Amino acid sequence: MAEAILLNGVALAADVKEAVAERAAAFTVATHRRPGLGVVLVGENPASQVYVRSKLKLARELGVHSVEHRLDAGTSQAGLLEVIAALNADGSVDGILVQLPLPPQIDPHRVIAAIDPAKDVDGFHPLNVGRIAIGLPALAPCTPLACTVLANSVHASLAGLEAVVIGRSTIVGKPLAQLLIAASATVTVAHSKTRDLPAVSRRSDLMFAAIGRPEFVRGDWIKPGATVIDVGINRVTSDGKHRIVGDVAFAEARLVAGAITPVPGGVGPMTIACLLANTVRAAYALAGLPAPAL
Ligand code: NAD
Repeated sequence: MAEAILLNGVALAADVKEAVAERAAAFTVATHRRPGLGVVLVGENPASQVYVRSKLKLARELGVHSVEHRLDAGTSQAGLLEVIAALNADGSVDGILVQLPLPPQIDPHRVIAAIDPAKDVDGFHPLNVGRIAIGLPALAPCTPLACTVLANSVHASLAGLEAVVIGRSTIVGKPLAQLLIAASATVTVAHSKTRDLPAVSRRSDLMFAAIGRPEFVRGDWIKPGATVIDVGINRVTSDGKHRIVGDVAFAEARLVAGAITPVPGGVGPMTIACLLANTVRAAYALAGLPAPAL
């Protein structure tokens, strides 16, 4: 049996990064300043620290100026809102990213709503969520955006394809479903209450797994030749060794799918590239220059 094409997120993200670096350089020539990203980290969640470090590193590599605010885990909501207000007012900052999750004393909805929607490079502000839902241009969330870029690397058009999104979270499943509808796919959103998930999955040309359960999707759930995008990042221990695996049983799925993302090295690297693409896009829009499309 032929093995699926491997959708190498590192290699595909390199193309996005190259385009972002070129646009960042052109922006700097046009405006005499670099695009700017403000990153806020509250507390010391180890995974969040790793994510923030890699976002700041990529910003540097692509010619994007960054400002970092590291706040104590005990920071009050009012204290965080003050930092956001300052970033909203800072003309050298085009994108604002507040790393989630936040400590329990802070309401993330309140914080996201305080970000200037024009600088909301995570695409979580209700205004951007709403604009995407009604088909207007908006900053889209990075992981769903990454998923569509990866799907488009196999299918130039998603129009008419049967797509299943497994997971209905606010940061991945729901916005991804909106982007796929906008791309004219026929979309089913499955979740923990879905009856006969294997049958729903088997009829899909495109599968997006965003569940958070290691190797939950089995090979025989996949339509032969389908494109499988695995969003999951799950830390597992077997034989005393720690590994990261996705939500799809990769070894099985690879024998059935037409194309599949590995974990790690699939959606993750593309997500960070999309964050910088959003930052540069926001910079162009704020400067009144025509916004480059991703
Ligand atoms: P979440 O916990 O918010 O949502 C999980 C979704 O899965 C829920 O909507 C739930 O209904 C669904 N689900 C749970 N059990 C199910 C079942 N038995 N059958 C069908 N559906 C079920 O998670 P999330 O924030 O959307 O993240 C999902 C995964 O994606 C996690 O592993 C997370 O680490 C990963 N993730 C990766 C990136 C990236 O850049 N690669 C970004 C965000 C999240």
